Amino acid sequence: MEVLDLTGQKGLIVGIANEHSLAWAAARHFRSAGAELAITYLNDKARPFVEPLAREAGAAIVLPCDVAAPGQLDAVFEAIRARWGRLDFVFHAIAWARKEDLHGRLTDCSAEGFAESMAISCYSFIRMAHLAEPLMDRGGSLTTLTFYGAEKVVDHYNVMGPVKAALECAVRYLAHELGSKKIRVNALSAGAVQTRAASGIAHFDALLNETLRDAPLHRQVDPDEVGRAALVLASAYASGVTGEVLYVDAGFHIEGMVFH
Ligand code: NAD
Repeated sequence: MEVLDLTGQKGLIVGIANEHSLAWAAARHFRSAGAELAITYLNDKARPFVEPLAREAGAAIVLPCDVAAPGQLDAVFEAIRARWGRLDFVFHAIAWARKEDLHGRLTDCSAEGFAESMAISCYSFIRMAHLAEPLMDRGGSLTTLTFYGAEKVVDHYNVMGPVKAALECAVRYLAHELGSKKIRVNALSAGAVQTRAASGIAHFDALLNETLRDAPLHRQVDPDEVGRAALVLASAYASGVTGEVLYVDAGFHIEGMVFH
């Protein structure tokens, strides 16, 4: 049981790939707080990894959703409308870039690669806000996941830096536009956690070690800590919080220069 109660609330989680996904940590907390969940998986390849987790979370709706595939995201929201007629919260935890862009300099990124990464990692959140708005007639909460590389240069984060910066800016504009409907929009800036997406970033181990050495708490973040913060943002406990980037990174972002 959780301290916070989401009994009767309906939430959509997009971004579970496996049991290491930050979205899965969030889903577990939403579920143990009593929320009813809709969970998506990327494609047939991802399905066998996600379906057992969706079952464990008692998800009422389990559907494929590749945000780059025309119509799939709309179909998810249509299924939610048909089944629940409303929605209380959305948790967006997806990011993607072509391998050559993720591993190459931003200077060399192609227009197509940049556009694809933006569409999947940033525009998809804007589109979810658009589709969620009519279903959140009593208000609601939209949360996305970002990283410190949006704000400062993090070696090897490359194209994802400007893409996450755009995502954080979109959070503020969406919060501004949807506030009058009592829809709150926030981002969680998670510290480095070893996940499938993270394994695509070069020298990720060095980033983990840096967190251990330099973050005020001198440790890595546990996915559960990200999940708990996601639960708080979705709940009425955060009813006054919108347009915010909340850091769950063991304090890493406050450090300027640390001497060793
Ligand atoms: P993950 O690999 O478990 O999750 C990434 C998800 O993105 C996967 O479920 C994948 O299916 C999904 N995805 C990719 N392309 C998609 C598409 N076209 N349509 C729909 N879904 C698509 O890794 P994660 O680390 O849990 O990543 C979740 C989010 O957290 C990402 O936005 C990531 O940038 C962010 N984040 C991660 C860290 C970290 O250190 N792991 C830190 C800060 C922020």
